[in-house]
Amino acid sequence: MRAWRDATREESGLRLAVIGKPVAQSLSPKMQSAALRELGVAGSYEAFEVEPEELRDCLSHLADCGFRGVNVTIPYKSPVAALCELEGSEAIETGCVNTVQFGEKWVGRNTDVAGFLHPIRTWPPGEALLIGAGGAAEAAAYALLTSGWSVSLWNRTAERAEELARRFSRFGSIQALVTPEEASADLVVSAIPAPGEENLFPVRFETLSRSAAIYDLAYAEGGTRLTRWAIEAGRRVVDGREMLVEQGALALEWWTGLTAPRPVMRAAIGLPPQEI
Ligand code: NAP
Repeated sequence: MRAWRDATREESGLRLAVIGKPVAQSLSPKMQSAALRELGVAGSYEAFEVEPEELRDCLSHLADCGFRGVNVTIPYKSPVAALCELEGSEAIETGCVNTVQFGEKWVGRNTDVAGFLHPIRTWPPGEALLIGAGGAAEAAAYALLTSGWSVSLWNRTAERAEELARRFSRFGSIQALVTPEEASADLVVSAIPAPGEENLFPVRFETLSRSAAIYDLAYAEGGTRLTRWAIEAGRRVVDGREMLVEQGALALEWWTGLTAPRPVMRAAIGLPPQEI
């Protein structure tokens, strides 16, 4: 992975990247590079680690070098939103941007909301327990509430959960919990990093109803520890790579005007080419 300052104007083709910190674990470069190859578009999709105080300089530099746009990951979705003209209710209402297109203005969209909903779009709305209150949790909360789910929210830092619940109460039924086990959930969404590591996932499966499904937004090739546990426990599971593909496909379609080759993108990150 090279440094963003090493990008130059001399490089040709459609130039794209994901920025964040940390970013080395992102599967986006693998997935989007496979998509560009499949589409026959000459170009590149890189990953750049950025320090918080460099964010504006990094975006200016990439725009000056001729990048078409960037994806934005942890922890910059809200700071980047503040630097962009926002397009779409998802970006405006969440104040989080995961996709930027450079031009005369920097335009920011949020494709995480649609990406999150895609794998559960046919599920009847019910009660969701959402763990976390960061950028991914905001996208998930907005998506769930605006599609009729009621949301109980728990976060390590309780004040952030309370603040998010207050801000989003205009979209539907949302409450912050003191302990996650107060909830009776049809769907548990984990929006914290690596929830299976060091027992970070705060809910015991035994406290959930048998039919409750687990949706882990964190992802890894081969699945996360949480998704593996949940499968072993006989749970219905949604893998975070499903969301990754859809948010990435929508970003690519915006940047290129072409239909994203979803089966190729899925296969590139270890998912079956067709949705199950
Ligand atoms: P973020 O804005 O930095 O928020 C992180 C959240 O995780 C906060 O709620 C934080 O709680 C919590 N957290 C962090 N470390 C924790 C720990 N040790 N124990 C308990 N809680 C902890 O990050 P984000 O953008 O929301 O991303 C969260 C996860 O979702 C990441 O793994 C990211 O890769 C994934 N994600 C996946 C997709 C996808 O397409 N599948 C899209 C977006 C994000 P505090 O408030 O207490 O700090």
